[in-house]
Amino acid sequence: MRIVSYSVGDDEDYGFMVSNTEFIPRYFVEEVLGHGIPRDVRELLPDRELVELVEAAVNGVGLEKVSLDSVHVRPPIPDPRKIICLGLNYMDHVEELGAEPPDDLVIFLKPPTALTGPFDPIIKPRMVKELDYEGEMAIVIADRCKDVEPTDAVHHIFGYMVFNDVSARDIQFKDGQWTRGKSFDTFAPAGPWITSKEEVGDPHNLRIITRVNREVRQNSSTGQMIFKVPSIVSGLSRVMTLEPGDIIATGTPPGVGYSWRPKPRLLKPGDVVEVWIEGLGAIRNQVVEEPRA
Ligand code: MG
Repeated sequence: MRIVSYSVGDDEDYGFMVSNTEFIPRYFVEEVLGHGIPRDVRELLPDRELVELVEAAVNGVGLEKVSLDSVHVRPPIPDPRKIICLGLNYMDHVEELGAEPPDDLVIFLKPPTALTGPFDPIIKPRMVKELDYEGEMAIVIADRCKDVEPTDAVHHIFGYMVFNDVSARDIQFKDGQWTRGKSFDTFAPAGPWITSKEEVGDPHNLRIITRVNREVRQNSSTGQMIFKVPSIVSGLSRVMTLEPGDIIATGTPPGVGYSWRPKPRLLKPGDVVEVWIEGLGAIRNQVVEEPRA
């Protein structure tokens, strides 16, 4: 199953992808099932029985399809309770930095207000001088859980999506911690949809590529992750209760703009950043200057 969130005018809803360009809206499936489907996608994720009913209906015949081009695509979870991000979680990125691999999870939080749609602009604030990208795979949590064992973690995951941990390096390094530099509005493009774990299969065998203006900047595999998905979910759940729709960005591979030599290659207005992950689709966001007040 692949879940896509969208809006048409003021009307916000979600649906189920049937190809890379078409989906079936939630309320079409409701009509066929004769059964309500929650309007808030976070309420669907923990309901395994309903998810199976929906999947069967979507795979059945006769439902009208809608083109993705005819709607505004929103972040798949438009209003999560939290976004948790990992730092330093790719072995090839740690090697690039000449750092030692961490012996425990390095985490920070991004506010949900940083989220933006998979094809929406990244707004470069006037106060930011060094704007950068970080292509990442994100986990989407299915249900409320705490103190999960690594062997049980998979049962609490709904699926995966593409994420860009947009960062203001000047502010991040000046502050010495990451909150301000990574929390601006539009600094968390996500999507284009959530792919269920059943469709993804092994989340540690996916190619991940970031392009800027079509030029490859990051090219790695999720197999390079130091802490794998089960230990990430388990470790985080020992700190905080995880809830349906929570987003966990799992860290970035080498090739972020500031690490380029002889000089950094940061983002400027007009640049188009694309993050693609095998089996999860691509998000594409253009950088625009913050409008003058
Ligand atoms: Mg990151």
